[in-house]
Amino acid sequence: MQNEEIVKLVENHKKFYTTGKTKNLSFRIEQLKKLKSAIEKYEDAILDALEKDLSKPAHESYASEIGFVLNEIDYMIKKIHSFSKPKRVKTPILYWGGSSYIIPEPYGVALIIGPWNYPFQLLMSPLAGAMAAGNCSVLKPSELAPHVSSVIKTLVCDTFETQYISVVEGSVEASTTLLQQKVDYIFFTGGTRVGKVVMEAAAKNLIPVTLELGGKSPCIVDKDIHLNYTARRIAWGKFLNAGQTCVAPDYLLVHKDIAEKLCLEIVKSIEEFYGKDPLESKHYVRIINEKHFDRLVRLLDEGKIFYGGQSKREERYISPTIIRDLSFDSLIMQDEIFGPLLPVIEYQTLDEAIEMINRKPKPLALYIFSKNKKIQDKVLEETSSGGVSVNDTISHITTKFLPFGGVGESGMGNYHGRASFDTFSHKKSVLKNTFLFDAKLKYPPYTISLKWFKKLLKLV
Ligand code: NAD
Repeated sequence: MQNEEIVKLVENHKKFYTTGKTKNLSFRIEQLKKLKSAIEKYEDAILDALEKDLSKPAHESYASEIGFVLNEIDYMIKKIHSFSKPKRVKTPILYWGGSSYIIPEPYGVALIIGPWNYPFQLLMSPLAGAMAAGNCSVLKPSELAPHVSSVIKTLVCDTFETQYISVVEGSVEASTTLLQQKVDYIFFTGGTRVGKVVMEAAAKNLIPVTLELGGKSPCIVDKDIHLNYTARRIAWGKFLNAGQTCVAPDYLLVHKDIAEKLCLEIVKSIEEFYGKDPLESKHYVRIINEKHFDRLVRLLDEGKIFYGGQSKREERYISPTIIRDLSFDSLIMQDEIFGPLLPVIEYQTLDEAIEMINRKPKPLALYIFSKNKKIQDKVLEETSSGGVSVNDTISHITTKFLPFGGVGESGMGNYHGRASFDTFSHKKSVLKNTFLFDAKLKYPPYTISLKWFKKLLKLV
């Protein structure tokens, strides 16, 4: 799409928003239902596109992309009346007879920019929140998942008026032009580097942002655990989508007494999931492109490969890999891995593990496996992260009852369930005064003493 077309498209969204149509709850519900039906209609095309872009198995695609979004839409439809109700709050005695409340009001036009790793869910789930809150939306899918991008474009064009919801396909150029427009909200999911570009662009027009970013999510494993469940939950969270998940456990910090046993048990889980040769498995995903493949292969040079380490460039395949004998300062420990390589670093004391985590920027997710509540509590108390799963991986982001988002370098703002509605709503504070009386004391000329004036102010 040409730059001028993008400018015109955003203008048309603004015009449509000012008609007030999207503020009507029946309209919002009807459109959410249309979105749901369209996703159901396009289900096969979405699964096919995910298979083409990432070799995602249908079960994973359904659970983590389509099913997830359908659940969000259902929840929005069910809760929209209660979410959008003005909330009454107390009124100070000075305004006796008046009333105060908070009205959730749509921002206007929301720009939603998505990444390639869960290319359907990460555009459609925020879209459900934006629609429920009464906004118009422009979607910008990732160019690195072109088949999914194309299905999203067709689905949206086929379902909604272009002035209400539109899709701009393309890469950095399209994104840059979109970021120059005076939209009313920007919701970005992607890497920390681009997150900074987005925030800088938003600052120029003082546009509020949500940044859903990434980072290195640590996984601490104490020696007091259920070994088999721990290994299985780690292997699943790490090798799902071949490690290309923003909340995948990036690296393990394992108590030295259990490191060997745990690594062997993770190997067992990998072989249970994908067989002895994951290259042959229909359930194992490929790396998105050659650039990321080459980046990941370079990370195999340090440490000792305990398991895996095989790769095949023509197929963008890298096997599930466990790496040991690494230092915390090695290359693989510098940036988010975003691939199926699992570094295992041993610790002797929990303080040492916590100190290592706190040396790095605040992660998007943190995992702690331990039966010991004191250890769980100490980790929760002494570390900061977007979210935490205790004795599991990824699970805390799958529930609509918990807001999902990062902190510090892993992002700002959150969504999922109620949080999605709130994210796309401005909370407008309203105080309605009465005409029953007018407290003259607040007006000049000030006739009461400062002492009484101070007492009066306490009533506000
Ligand atoms: P990315 O930041 O490279 O790209 C994301 C989007 O931004 C794409 O649509 C892309 O076209 C656009 N973009 C790229 N460069 C741009 C620029 N200079 N200016 C404007 N727009 C630009 O991210 P990615 O590689 O698609 O995704 C991987 C990253 O996303 C990882 O770091 C991962 O952790 C993170 N991620 C975070 C979440 C989350 O929910 N927090 C979810 C998935 C992925």
